[in-house]
Amino acid sequence: MVTVIQFSALIILALLAIYLFQVLFSGFRTTQLATGIAEAQRSLLQTQVAEIMGKINLEREKSEFSWSGFRKFSVHRKVPEGGGICSFYLQPHDQKPLPSFDPGQYLTFRLNIADQPKPVMRCYSLSDSPKSEYYRVSIKAVPAPRDNPDAPPGLSSNHFHDAIQEGDILDVKAPGGHFFLDTSKHTPVVLIGGGIGLTPVLSMVNQIVESGSSRETHLFYGVRNGDEHVMKEDLERVARENDNVHLHVCYSKAGEGDVEGRDYQHSGRVGVDLFKEVLPSNNYEYYFCGPPPMMNSLFEGLREWGVPEKNINYEAFGPATVKKKQEADSAGDPAASDSTAGFDVTFGKSGKTVAWTAAMGSLLDLAEENGVDIDFGCRAGNCGTCITALKSGEVDYLSEPGEKPEAGSCLACIAVPKRPVVLDA
Ligand SMILES: Cc1cc2nc3c(=O)[nH]c(=O)nc-3n(C[C@H](O)[C@H](O)[C@H](O)COP(=O)(O)OP(=O)(O)OC[C@H]3O[C@@H](n4cnc5c(N)ncnc54)[C@H](O)[C@@H]3O)c2cc1C
Repeated sequence: MVTVIQFSALIILALLAIYLFQVLFSGFRTTQLATGIAEAQRSLLQTQVAEIMGKINLEREKSEFSWSGFRKFSVHRKVPEGGGICSFYLQPHDQKPLPSFDPGQYLTFRLNIADQPKPVMRCYSLSDSPKSEYYRVSIKAVPAPRDNPDAPPGLSSNHFHDAIQEGDILDVKAPGGHFFLDTSKHTPVVLIGGGIGLTPVLSMVNQIVESGSSRETHLFYGVRNGDEHVMKEDLERVARENDNVHLHVCYSKAGEGDVEGRDYQHSGRVGVDLFKEVLPSNNYEYYFCGPPPMMNSLFEGLREWGVPEKNINYEAFGPATVKKKQEADSAGDPAASDSTAGFDVTFGKSGKTVAWTAAMGSLLDLAEENGVDIDFGCRAGNCGTCITALKSGEVDYLSEPGEKPEAGSCLACIAVPKRPVVLDA
């Protein structure tokens, strides 16, 4: 017979057991939770350490394997891509390791072209992600301008297409440039290539997918029609195999055989109106490269849409670059100063002094306008061909120079005077 005391004792024991069980279980749960958090933290830390180590190794390799001046490369493969574009796969002739590069950077070539009195310098973006075996550039053959069909066609691009063959040797400067994807970030990106301006963003998207990054990526590619649409299968495969990559091909003037939904996704040009339609928000980092009208309208459109300037990255393939409205209004910026205000520019060797105004463009433009000879290559502040000694005065740059020239000289193709200057030209 169970007495009340025994019954009470049993109840107390049961309660004690339940209490102990609860304490033990909650302790176990807390421990489990703590272990889970610690594990998550450890794996996050491991990922961060791996990323930092990767970056350190990459930087070490870059500086260890890089070179100054020109290095000989042989053309390993020459591959026609269609649309007047040809890719060149380059391998170092000395067979030593290749330094990596940041996707978006370019190579500078020094070409000896028949009938040209001096070597011709041109820059071409690396069009694939960094690979240990080769560098790749993709070059569009530039015809004579539409409004001047009798002018000679593009010198360097046609030389690459017509004269350069597999096995040929080229002089190449190490990868350079400030327009590149920050691969240490995981923030969503919008990559935009107009025509041949696809090349640097192609390198970026390839790097993103090949590194296994799940970074949200929207790639907009604008061309006239199917005839100009290059790397079609590659891009479609990248988008098909990677959920984080969204491809938006835009044809501005689709051809008869081009089918919307099959060959391209959008009719019309790449622009901010399209971004508003297809992007969930404006909260991306933007990287773009393309023809001058596209560059200007994208920059202004993105700013008007509220995208901070720090999130807008771009590169021009020639003299044209983005003209910033807000800067044009700001006082003190020589690139944007009142077109009636100016400074005297003296070309010492030629014995000419002319008045410069912002409307006249760079010092190279001014020199050409006044019959003063200054050598040039890329006209974008990258190749260094137009470096001119500055005997007095000070200059500013319309865009960031690829490599700052030494004190006392300037890159005439992107330089504008800050006050009266005397150039050794
Ligand atoms: C950083 C950077 C990256 C680049 N990346 C790439 C890339 O990946 N792929 C690519 O294809 N390009 C790229 N470019 C552009 C490339 O460097 C060259 O500018 C392009 O190939 C044209 O050079 P060209 O020597 O063929 O033409 P140029 O000889 O410089 O001629 C340019 C134009 O002027 C015309 N012209 C020549 N002489 C006259 C005349 N007397 N009167 C009127 N018109 C004339 C030509 O017909 C042509 O239309 C890049 C440029 C930069 C700055």
